[in-house]
Amino acid sequence: MSDHGPLSFSPLPNAEAPKACRRCPRLVALRKSLRAEEPKWWNAPVPAFGDPGASLAVVGLAPGKEGANRTGRPFTGDASGELLFATLTKFGFVDGTFRNDPDDGIALRGAIILNAVKCLPPENKPTAAEIENCRPYLAKALKGLPELTVILALGKIAHDSIIRLSGAKLATYKFAHGAKHDLPDGRILLDSYHCSRYNVNTKRLTVEMFEDVFRLAQSLSQ
Ligand code: SF4
Repeated sequence: MSDHGPLSFSPLPNAEAPKACRRCPRLVALRKSLRAEEPKWWNAPVPAFGDPGASLAVVGLAPGKEGANRTGRPFTGDASGELLFATLTKFGFVDGTFRNDPDDGIALRGAIILNAVKCLPPENKPTAAEIENCRPYLAKALKGLPELTVILALGKIAHDSIIRLSGAKLATYKFAHGAKHDLPDGRILLDSYHCSRYNVNTKRLTVEMFEDVFRLAQSLSQ
């Protein structure tokens, strides 16, 4: 497990939250209690992972307890990343072999992974205030990607946060799996159900459905 702060390895160091960010008291308290229970875990805001020259940004919800919150790399360490990295690999965005471990040495090419909320929320459910508190970091990350053309939102929370920061109206841009939205700044937002273990196990999101969204994302981001 790395003890480095996010600035030392983030592809977007100027967009990261400080490791001791205190904007969300409930999430800060959870980080603190987990740090006491599991001192070797990351237990801090999770930085972006990927290519600062990305044309595709994948935006998830928030770190999972034993995934990114433990390892410090988005979608790494639990089941949530298996479908995402398998699909990123299939579409040529991964250099190396994903082993669900931050030390597997992979790199993303043309893609970057961000989260709408950078700290672990209880039961994976951030409050509206927490999503709002973290939105400036998401905004900074998206602003800091000069080649970005397509944003893929994994789930409604990521979708809504991106729409809000774009200045558009949620009523005009509704979340729907497979939907394509033209954002006011010229970028494209695609929606997918989140690739969580629950959604995969219940077949709300199948491999084929996820690959169809990535096929579209790849064609639009080239
Ligand atoms: S969720 Fe975001 S805004 Fe809230 S404490 Fe963590 S880094 Fe800060």
